[in-house]
Amino acid sequence: MYRIGTGFDIHRLVKGRKLVIGGIEIPSEKGFLAHSDGDIFFHALTDALLGAVGYGDIGQLFPDTEKQWKNKESKIFLQEANKIVKQKGYSIVNIDSYVILQHTKILPYREKIIKNTAKILNIKENQIFIKGKSYENVGEIGKGEAGFAHVVVLLKKEEIR
Ligand code: MG
Repeated sequence: MYRIGTGFDIHRLVKGRKLVIGGIEIPSEKGFLAHSDGDIFFHALTDALLGAVGYGDIGQLFPDTEKQWKNKESKIFLQEANKIVKQKGYSIVNIDSYVILQHTKILPYREKIIKNTAKILNIKENQIFIKGKSYENVGEIGKGEAGFAHVVVLLKKEEIR
């Protein structure tokens, strides 16, 4: 039995903040304005995992009104979602995604991001893919004022032995 999950996230890009994607710090003039580190990829992935098992969403589990999540590394959210997926008896088949940034190329960092994500989720690197894309100068994302991520995940029910 299979289940699909989808997640997206957007954060505004501002000066004086770090740009963190998939737990990797990327050199940039601007970074994500957020309660946590604003890691759009990990936030979208967390929502996709939670959605796939019908558990809830990132905003419900880690409200941005709570101090304990302030400036926290988003890998904490991802680890928690992965734990819930396992508790529900599922394993990850694969993850496919887009990270959309106008002024930052993802390609030079893709391997690093995939490696780090695979390590956190305890899956193989070839189960994750990330496509970097620009927004063709359209709207706020296209002006480099925000970054966007979209993730799809496929889960498989573990066989009971
Ligand atoms: Mg977010």
